[in-house]
Amino acid sequence: MATLESILESDLADVAKGDHPIDVLIIGSGAAGVTSAIQLAREGKRVVILEAGPFLLTSHVGSTPFRSREDIVPQIHQKVVYRSSWKTASDLEDLGDEEAPGNNNAWSLVGGRTVFWGGCTPRFTSWDFDDWPISLGDVEPYYERVEAMMHVSGQPGGDQPAFFQSKSQDELIDKLNTAEIAARRATLGVDTDDVRNGHISRGFDSSVARLLRSGNLIPWGDKAGISLVAQAEALRLIKGDKAIEGVEVLDRRTGDTHVLHATQVVLAGSALQSTRLAMVSELNDPSGMMGHYVNDHLFVQGVMKLDKPLEEGPLYIFLEPTPERPYHVQLQGPFNETWYSPYHATVWLEPDPEGVYVLFYVFGVGTVEHGNRLELRKRKGDGSVMNDYVVVYDRSEQDIEVLQQMRDCMPAAAKVMGAEVVKDQINNPGEALHEIGGLRMGTTESEGVTDTYGKFWRYDNLWAADASSWPSQGTANSYLTIASLALRQAEKAE
Ligand SMILES: Cc1cc2nc3c(=O)[nH]c(=O)nc-3n(C[C@H](O)[C@H](O)[C@H](O)COP(=O)(O)OP(=O)(O)OC[C@H]3O[C@@H](n4cnc5c(N)ncnc54)[C@H](O)[C@@H]3O)c2cc1C
Repeated sequence: MATLESILESDLADVAKGDHPIDVLIIGSGAAGVTSAIQLAREGKRVVILEAGPFLLTSHVGSTPFRSREDIVPQIHQKVVYRSSWKTASDLEDLGDEEAPGNNNAWSLVGGRTVFWGGCTPRFTSWDFDDWPISLGDVEPYYERVEAMMHVSGQPGGDQPAFFQSKSQDELIDKLNTAEIAARRATLGVDTDDVRNGHISRGFDSSVARLLRSGNLIPWGDKAGISLVAQAEALRLIKGDKAIEGVEVLDRRTGDTHVLHATQVVLAGSALQSTRLAMVSELNDPSGMMGHYVNDHLFVQGVMKLDKPLEEGPLYIFLEPTPERPYHVQLQGPFNETWYSPYHATVWLEPDPEGVYVLFYVFGVGTVEHGNRLELRKRKGDGSVMNDYVVVYDRSEQDIEVLQQMRDCMPAAAKVMGAEVVKDQINNPGEALHEIGGLRMGTTESEGVTDTYGKFWRYDNLWAADASSWPSQGTANSYLTIASLALRQAEKAE
């Protein structure tokens, strides 16, 4: 069957020949990897992206003709999903040597999870950075640039109009604000520029689409640009005294392994995979923090029933977090009876004007505990070593209290909207898919595995570009902040 492979991908064996030097080797092609790669290529670097998964789609699934096809989309997920395992310390102890079963999803494909993400793009608040060694002021200029790159719409004060602009939405926002529940139209990673004068909307943001549009993707050779090697899994970083001397890579198509040498190496496999790779590679870590302080958003979901269909829908409303209420709420609808699933995170694109159900998603800040960690552990999975870890995660008393507050906030908001909550659920750790930590940043080598730009203290040429270096999750969904920090880091690495 003819595929785009020969046009868009480079061959691992070719790259490994060493005919041309690799300036930067980036492991992972999601939000972090591609944002970093484009910036570095524009600065004249020869960049190679390694991606363990296959090239499946050239854009976000929400920008494809089958975005609402419930018979097709889950099957696409199934091709690239593998199961991860989050366990409490006592559950893991009870398991002994038995297999730790999967209870969460992880995705592996060109574009990473940006092919399926749900599109909500709030920024961190200033107080979200309270336990970080950097502040909102350090990140703000990058937020602005990344929002422009992603064509984020609905940013308060921004140029791109909100995706949903219905009368009923605005009336409900007014009612919520009057009831002192701070509400606004959601900020979304969807281009709302008019289609005219030769401009075609870029649709849903995804790193794979950004990579393809960038003009920087080139076949491997003697030129500055980005070469993409898919189905190539970084197995181990080969450490020298102060630098990474090579990366051992598995060609998943042939089963061969190769060693690549690069001036700089960037980990962008997502927080858990970058941490796993650093641990498998037995990197030196004077801080003793490697693998620790792993976290995910606290996540409560629900559905409310309106007393009658909206006069003029639809809606996607964002309820702001506050320091006293460290969580935000996303409200989407209306629909016929429905429930959130990660396989259909863009359900909000297809509201039903006659529907009376509105989805709630509440994401809250969990405490960050040293004992919440990634442990290397053999698991069967699909045979890939990427499955070989367990996240050991216990909720703190504060987490349990905040989760209860998150659940309790729903009826009040529903009442203001003329609705009642008909179903809600506290989701398990890991299900928010906003995981962070493992390679925590700090201002000295005893306070962090990485510095405030994600560079490893112990290695002169190794960086973590994804959320593995984050000290805490903040209230916002992670994509925008991952891409913004990756851009900030890439400028530092130039
Ligand atoms: C259904 C869903 C809905 C979401 N909704 C939202 C939302 O509304 N808003 C938001 O902000 N976020 C959302 N997210 C989360 C967001 O998508 C992620 O936080 C973000 O995409 C993570 O980017 P990343 O680059 O760190 O990692 P990923 O996107 O996970 O990409 C990492 C890539 O690296 C590859 N990789 C890992 N290890 C290796 C290795 N050893 N060798 C080679 N390749 C490797 C993986 O195969 C993967 O493709 C959602 C996620 C999902 C799945």
